[in-house]
Amino acid sequence: MALQSLDIQARSATTTAVPGVRETLDVAKLIDISKCIGCKACQVACMQWNDLQGEIGHNHGDYQNPRDLNDTTWTLMRFYEVEPEPDRLEWLIRKDGCMHCADPGCLAACPAPGAIVRYSNGIVDFHQEHCIGCGYCITGCPFDIPRLSKKDEKAYKCTLCSDRVAVGLAPACVKTCPTGAITFGGKAEMIHYAGTRVADLRERGFTEAGLYDPPGVGGTHVLYVLQHADRPELYGLPKDPAISPLVELWKGAAKPLAIATMALVGLASLFHYVTKGPNAVSREIEKEIEHEEEEQA
Ligand code: SF4
Ligand code: SF4
Repeated sequence: MALQSLDIQARSATTTAVPGVRETLDVAKLIDISKCIGCKACQVACMQWNDLQGEIGHNHGDYQNPRDLNDTTWTLMRFYEVEPEPDRLEWLIRKDGCMHCADPGCLAACPAPGAIVRYSNGIVDFHQEHCIGCGYCITGCPFDIPRLSKKDEKAYKCTLCSDRVAVGLAPACVKTCPTGAITFGGKAEMIHYAGTRVADLRERGFTEAGLYDPPGVGGTHVLYVLQHADRPELYGLPKDPAISPLVELWKGAAKPLAIATMALVGLASLFHYVTKGPNAVSREIEKEIEHEEEEQA
């Protein structure tokens, strides 16, 4: 079955059911951190394919540049110097970007209809023409990914190269990676391949190696093979990411409450109309107005 589909399965701030969408395979990008050499080819390929122009940065004494994701840096190599055990230094390098959550907090939080969509293949995309620049998607994202542009006040993030995937191509970062640290395909296939990588790492002494596919957000469409899967914080990843309770409240209780309040106000107005009749101007008020008009003339 084809991976390429831009059939929309879910839209932000939309209560109407989506029309029937074609069955497609869930896609996934697998990032094997143990194979990454931090060359940043993926960071450059992302900017090149998406025609993004970064600002000239400053050297902070390490290889991470720019310091953080921004509206024109949708993927960023993060460098961590850690001591997983006393006297054992490790340099961990992680490609950061949108995780394409199955249950995306950004989409749940967004109040603009259609500004955020999830395609049937699992890719979460932002449609800037509908974005109102409120930044709620940033609050809703458990991975701190979207960034607002100062130029047009719209939110931006990695698209998982939805335009390339739609025509059967792999994302630009996957295509360019010189060590094969990033692979792309059906999610089931990627999980299977990750299993072989994890087994290899365990044989090589990384007893806690494993796959990062957090269930708190329904799983993700960007997966990591981690040498220390028991401690994702070493890589700057949240241990148990989940949609914030505030967003859940907005999505769960507050929205129906607001709708119920509006319905009650409507009912009360109808009741008033039925019992009291339409608003009418009394004869005395009419006379008063006529009198004032005569005086002014
Ligand atoms: S990582 Fe953040 S921006 Fe990406 S889909 Fe998940 S919630 Fe949305
Ligand atoms: S800033 Fe984010 S939450 Fe707000 S409308 Fe744009 S995409 Fe939606």
